[in-house]
Amino acid sequence: PSTTAPTDTATPDGFIRVRGAREHNLRDVDVDIPRDRIVAFTGISGSGKSSLAFGTVFAEAQRRFLESVAPYARRLIAQGSTPHVDAITGLPPAVALQQRRGAPSTRSTVGTLTTLSNSVRMLYSRAGTYPDGATQLYSDSFSPNTVAGACPRCHGLGTAHEVTEASAVHDPSLSIREGAITAWPGAWQGKNLRDVTAVLGYDIDRPWQDLPKEDRDWLLFTEEQPVVEVHPKRDRVAKPYKGRFWSARQYTLHTLADSQSETQRNKALRFVESGPCQLCGGSGLTRAALAVTFGGLSIAEFNALPLSEVVEVLRPAVELTDPTPAQSSVTSGERSEVAQSIATDLHGRIDVLIGLGLGYLGLDRATPTLSPGETQRLRIATQLRSGLFGVVYVLDEPSAGLHPADTESLVQVLDDLRASGNSVFVVEHDMDIVRRADWIVDVGPGAGSGGGRVLYSGPPAGLAEVEESVTRRYLQPGGERAAHERREPVGTLEIRGAALHNLDDLDLDLPLGVLTAVTGVSGSGKSSLVGGVLPAIATEHPLISRVVEVDQKPIGRTPRSNLATYTGMFDAVRQAFAATEDARERGRTAGRFSFNVEGGRCEVCQGEGSVSVELLFLPGSWAPCPECHGARYNAETLEVRRDGATIADVLGMTVDEAADALADLPAAARALTALRSVGLGYLRLGQPAPELSGGEAQRIKLATELQRARSGHTLYLLDEPSTGLHPADVELLTAQLARLTDAGNTVVVVEHVMSVVAQADHVVDMGPAGGDEGGRVVASGTPAEVAAATGSRTAPFLRAALG
Ligand code: ADP
Ligand code: ADP
Ligand code: ZN
Ligand code: ZN
Repeated sequence: PSTTAPTDTATPDGFIRVRGAREHNLRDVDVDIPRDRIVAFTGISGSGKSSLAFGTVFAEAQRRFLESVAPYARRLIAQGSTPHVDAITGLPPAVALQQRRGAPSTRSTVGTLTTLSNSVRMLYSRAGTYPDGATQLYSDSFSPNTVAGACPRCHGLGTAHEVTEASAVHDPSLSIREGAITAWPGAWQGKNLRDVTAVLGYDIDRPWQDLPKEDRDWLLFTEEQPVVEVHPKRDRVAKPYKGRFWSARQYTLHTLADSQSETQRNKALRFVESGPCQLCGGSGLTRAALAVTFGGLSIAEFNALPLSEVVEVLRPAVELTDPTPAQSSVTSGERSEVAQSIATDLHGRIDVLIGLGLGYLGLDRATPTLSPGETQRLRIATQLRSGLFGVVYVLDEPSAGLHPADTESLVQVLDDLRASGNSVFVVEHDMDIVRRADWIVDVGPGAGSGGGRVLYSGPPAGLAEVEESVTRRYLQPGGERAAHERREPVGTLEIRGAALHNLDDLDLDLPLGVLTAVTGVSGSGKSSLVGGVLPAIATEHPLISRVVEVDQKPIGRTPRSNLATYTGMFDAVRQAFAATEDARERGRTAGRFSFNVEGGRCEVCQGEGSVSVELLFLPGSWAPCPECHGARYNAETLEVRRDGATIADVLGMTVDEAADALADLPAAARALTALRSVGLGYLRLGQPAPELSGGEAQRIKLATELQRARSGHTLYLLDEPSTGLHPADVELLTAQLARLTDAGNTVVVVEHVMSVVAQADHVVDMGPAGGDEGGRVVASGTPAEVAAATGSRTAPFLRAALG
C-alpha cells in the first residue's frame, strides 16, 4: 500500500471538501465527504467513482506526500499525476488498497504479506521446543530470507539446482572444442575456459563421450579452481595471460546465485535439474531451525497448515491458565507467558482472516497464486494492526471474490478500521455493504460524458429520494428480480475423477447448452474447477467445438491496443478511409491509416500517442506525445477526412458517438452494437488498453464474442464477471450471457452475486467450506433446488434472491 503523510490541518467540522474536481469525466464536482466514517462511492461502470475516490482524493493526498518528502518529486511526476481539482481541504493522509495484479516478488507469501511470519518466528525462537543440548536461536534463524536462517545448499529458496552430466552436456558426441560443455559460457569467456582446460592436460578434441569418466566428472563437478598461464597459439599478437578454471557446476551455480542479469540467470537454469532441496525438504531453512517445534510441528509444517488449523495449534497456549514466567524447562517455552502472549496476538489476527473467508490459506502460500480479491482482503486485515489512525483508506471493491456469507465479517473489519480513528472510503457495488455504510456518494447518472456528477452525498436513507440515481433502485433488497424460462440441456459433459488443488476425485455432470452458475465460499474450488479442470477436458467432447475463457486480463499491455483494434472494427474503419475520394487521389491505402506501421503514423511516438516516462521510484507512466499531442498520426494523414472527421477524430469518439458516425460500415456497426449491449457505450474507441479496468476488458472480450457469427457449440467460461459492476451493469451482462446461451452455446460462470445465480438454468454449489474442507459438490440442480438444499452456505442467500 502507498501511504501519505499529513500535510494539511484538518478542517474542524470533520469534512473533506472537494472543490472543482475535473479529473477524467468529472464535471466540476463540489462535494463534502465526512471523515471518520465508512463512505461508499457508487454509480454505474464509467460514471466516475474511481476518478473521484482514487483519481482525485487519493491522488491529491499522494501528491502532497511526495511534495513533502521530496520537493523535486513534483517535477518528476508527469502532469497526469496531479489531479485536476481546484481545492481540497480537510484531507488527511491516505492509504490506497487497490486491486492490481502486480508481480510481487516470488518470495512473498501470505505470511510475509500479513507480517504474521514475524510473530511466528518469534514464537519458535522464544517459546519453541528445542532438542536436548541445542541453543536457543534468534528469530532471524527461522527465516529463509536471512543469512542466519537460509539453508546452506539452496540459499533459502527451497529449490535446489543440481548440475548433472545430462543437464550440462547436451550433445556428448561433440568435443570440448566443439562446445560439448553447453553449460559453459559462449564467446571469449568460453574459449578462455577451453584453453585453460587444454593447458591442464585434458583432450579437448576427443568426443565428450569417449573421455574417461574420471576426467568428465572433474571437468563438470570439481570445486578446484586452478589458475594457469595460457599462451594463445593461433593468435600471435595475443599476449600470454592467466586463466582460472571453472567446472560446469561452479560456473552455473555462480551465475544463478550472483549474476545481476536476469537473462543470464534464466539461461543458466537450462543447465540444471531443479527440484525441492533435499537438505531442507524445500523449506529453505537450516536443520537447526527445523528441529525446533511448537505443538509438535516444525515451523515449515506450521506454515503449511491452513490458517483454520493454525488457530487450533495455538489454542492450548492461548488458553493456559497458569503460564510459567519464562522457559519452564531448558528445552521448551510452550507453556510460558511469552508463548501465551505471542499465541494470543497471532490467534486474534488470524481470526480476522478466517472471518474474511481466508481460513483455507496457508502462511507459506506464494502471493502470485492469490486472486486480487484475496490479496486485498489480506491487506485490509493487516492494516487493522498497523496502528495507523487519522488516515483515509481508499479501497477498491473489497467485496470482490467474497461469498455473501462472509459479507458480515468484512463490514466488521471496515468498522474496526473506522473505530480506530480512520476514514474508510470504498468503491463498492455490493448493495449489502453499501447499505451498511454511514454515507453514500452516488456518482452518475450515466457513464463517461453522461456521468461525472455527484447526484447524492449523504446517509444511505436519503438516496431513495434521488430520482436521477440508478443506484437507488437496487439499494432496497429485492430491487433486482427477473425470471426467464429455463432452458433444456442438449447434452452432458461428464467429469470423472477430477483432481486439482483441493478437488479430489470429483465427479460432476455439467449440462450443455445452458447457463450454469458455480457458487461456493472463497477457496471452495470454483476457480480450480472452472479455470483448471473444464478447459482441459471440454475440448475432448464432441458437442464442444471451442472453449473461450472470458477473463479480466488486459486486452493489451501498451497504448497500442485499444478496443477498436481488439474487436477488429478498426480494419473496417481504415478501409473506409482508404476508400474516400481524397485518399484515392493521393494513393493512400488502408495501411497508411494504421498507427502500428510506418507510413501514416507519427514517428515520434511511433503511433502510441504517448511516450513512456520511467521514474525512479514510481511505476512507469505515460505522457502525451509532444509531436502529435496524442493524435498518433502525422499531419499528412490527418488531412484526409471522412464525413468531416479525421481518423484520429474517429479514435476519439465514444462507442455511442461512433455508432452514429459509422452506422454505414456493417462490420464496425456490429461491433459497436455489441459493445453498447454490454454497457460500454461510454468508452472511447482509441482508449488505450492500460487505462481499461479488468471488468471493462472482460466485457470487451464478451462483446467481441457476441458480434461473431453464431456457430454455437462454444463453451464460455467466466470467473466472477460481475466484479467491478454496478447492479445495473450486472443486469446488462446477464442479458448478454442469456443471448450467448440462446444461440446454442454453453456458459459457465463463477458467481457470488445471487441475482445472477438466480437466473441460471443450473447451479453447482461447491463446498462445504474452503481449502481441504471444500472441493466437493454440495448441491446441484436448478436455482430453486439448490436454494432448498441443506448444508449449503449458498442456499439461504439464493432463497432470498429467488424471493
Ligand atoms: P468508474 O470508477 O465509475 O467505473 P472511472 O472513474 O474509472 O469510472 O471512469 C470515468 C470516466 O473516465 C470513464 O469515461 C473512463 O473511460 C474515463 N477514464 C478512466 N480512466 C481514464 C484515464 N486514465 N484517462 C482518460 N480517461 C479515463
Ligand atoms: P475458489 O475459486 O472457490 O475461491 P480456488 O479454486 O481458487 O477456490 O481454490 C481452491 C483451493 O485450492 C484453495 O484451498 C486454494 O488455496 C487452493 N489453490 C488455488 N490455487 C492454488 C495454487 N495456484 N496453488 C496452490 N493452491 C491453490
Ligand atoms: Zn535447502
Ligand atoms: Zn506522436
